[in-house]
Amino acid sequence: MIGIFGGTFDPVHYGHLRSALEVKDIFGLDEVRLIPCANPPHREQPAVTANMRLQMLELAIKNQPGLKIDTRELDRYNLDQTPSYMVDTLKSLRQEFKNEPLLLFIGSDAFKHLTGWHQWQRLFDYAHIVVMTRPGFNTQQLDDFFKARLAVDTKELALASAGNLCFQQITQLDISATAIRNIIARKQNPGFLLPDAVIEYIKQHQLYETR
Ligand code: ATP
Repeated sequence: MIGIFGGTFDPVHYGHLRSALEVKDIFGLDEVRLIPCANPPHREQPAVTANMRLQMLELAIKNQPGLKIDTRELDRYNLDQTPSYMVDTLKSLRQEFKNEPLLLFIGSDAFKHLTGWHQWQRLFDYAHIVVMTRPGFNTQQLDDFFKARLAVDTKELALASAGNLCFQQITQLDISATAIRNIIARKQNPGFLLPDAVIEYIKQHQLYETR
């Protein structure tokens, strides 16, 4: 089984890295692919270039063999400058992994807006969706489309290559890239929120110094 973790990674931080590692262990994944977004359709444009976000990601996962960077959204953008729709990304991953279960991990905040994503129902044609939750998250209010796809046990995800929804509680560190950018712009110290190698890179290239 392959995990997919999309994001802007502007910059990557321990909130992303810890959850990617944790879901890898919980679901026994062969690998987790971190997929940096080139042109996010649902939010403001990233503060730094795609290439710099990619270099920070490379520094961050250097010694973590189970985490891989997948540049297909950046490559696609270089070809046609279209928005990075997740449905296109999953479709292209599916061409590579014909029968393997693909697990798309999203935060519970992202799940709230899932029905606004481009062709969102079709995401389930290509992957399972796992919503990473905090303790106390309420799944009662799901509509029928989601209820019909709900996996009662996470083991069910191994039985089909796509099509299920599940909720998994994980340790969520209260870290966001927005908070890190603000800390740096205020000339405060972002230490222990993201890897030292990434902090060094940010300093070297004077990133996020103004808002
Ligand atoms: P920003 O503050 O710029 O919006 P972010 O820190 O939320 O960025 P993204 O790159 O937008 O990071 O997020 C990518 C994915 O990582 C999303 O699915 C998001 O829910 C998840 N994520 C972000 N922060 C955390 C965290 N602290 N713990 C677990 N997952 C996280």
